[in-house]
Amino acid sequence: EPLVRLRGVTKSYPGSSPGVRRGGTGPAVVTAVDDVDLDVAAGEIQAIVGYSGAGKSTLVRLVNALEPATSGSVVVDGVELTGLPERRLRQVRLGIGMIFQQFNLLESRSVWGNLAYPLQIAGVGKAEQQRRISELLHFVGLPDKAHTYPRHLSGGQKQRVGIARALATSPKLLLADEATSALDPDTTQEVLELLKRVNRELGTTIIAITHEMDVVRTIADRVAVMEKGRIIESGPVYDVFSAP
Ligand code: ADP
Ligand code: ADP
Repeated sequence: EPLVRLRGVTKSYPGSSPGVRRGGTGPAVVTAVDDVDLDVAAGEIQAIVGYSGAGKSTLVRLVNALEPATSGSVVVDGVELTGLPERRLRQVRLGIGMIFQQFNLLESRSVWGNLAYPLQIAGVGKAEQQRRISELLHFVGLPDKAHTYPRHLSGGQKQRVGIARALATSPKLLLADEATSALDPDTTQEVLELLKRVNRELGTTIIAITHEMDVVRTIADRVAVMEKGRIIESGPVYDVFSAP
């Protein structure tokens, strides 16, 4: 039983091009994800690659229960998301960590405040919050940054905080959307090493969206290549990239 299983998943948006509104020839709907099947086994690092507009972010929003699929089946950790009421979707979301290209930290809160936030939402008590946040800061190598505000951190440090925040509630699944695209090559390698440690030491399954082949080669076990909403190739990284 894979941790994430997609079957025949399609996501369409109403067409919004001016051509359509004027009765022109633009598409009536945009099919962002088109009949996708994908299995991600527990403990793996799955990369999803493709050019801008291929449908990668939409796919991740479907797995993260942020948006419903138009059709098809999205199962995360044994729970079918398609048709699930919003209240249950929110619960599923709490079990999934997410990191972003622009880090998405709360600028008005210290590092401590940023890490406390998901724990407060999850209803974790003060003492446990304190224990957990110290542990997380040590894990990501920022034990002395608890009282620093995001604007005083480097990009790499911000992403370490982003990773710590994503892990705060001990999710089984971590979704990374272009997590290293805003970082220089050396910092990218450091952050990728940290993600590898997350995977190996905590057993967290990771789905990483990227347009950077280096990211795939450095951390991924498997890769799926998206084009125009479809997965056009998928398999172990070695097989996909050594194909004739
Ligand atoms: P990627 O992450 O690979 O760059 P996206 O998933 O962002 O691709 O987008 C795939 C396609 O779906 C694009 O054509 C995009 O314009 C369209 N799209 C994505 N989100 C929306 C939305 N909320 N409304 C309308 N169209 C969207
Ligand atoms: P923010 O600026 O987001 O409010 P703070 O650093 O001021 O973040 O801390 C938010 C809360 O967390 C406060 O109630 C504070 O008592 C507690 N806190 C912050 N840092 C620590 C720490 N190192 N040990 C224990 N509690 C802390």
